[in-house]
Amino acid sequence: MKLKVMVDQDLCTACALCYDDVPEVYEDAGDGIAKVKDEVGGDGAILDCEEVGQDLCDRVLEVTEECPSGSLITEVVEE
Ligand code: SF4
Repeated sequence: MKLKVMVDQDLCTACALCYDDVPEVYEDAGDGIAKVKDEVGGDGAILDCEEVGQDLCDRVLEVTEECPSGSLITEVVEE
């Protein structure tokens, strides 16, 4: 599976859930607003779950569901 990971920063309410739960992928951009880490490729990065581990991909999908403002956008680009 491959996931495309994005954050809509205009909607983010800086609740910190995503970067607390999945710090490998998300971080605080400086004002509490989330961003996809540059280390993983920044906004729109593709995560190859075989490389990064299915557990990490599962946690990305989970936190995408849990984000209270719907700011996390995660697309399955390859099953
Ligand atoms: S979980 Fe959603 S609202 Fe909370 S910091 Fe992350 S993107 Fe923003």
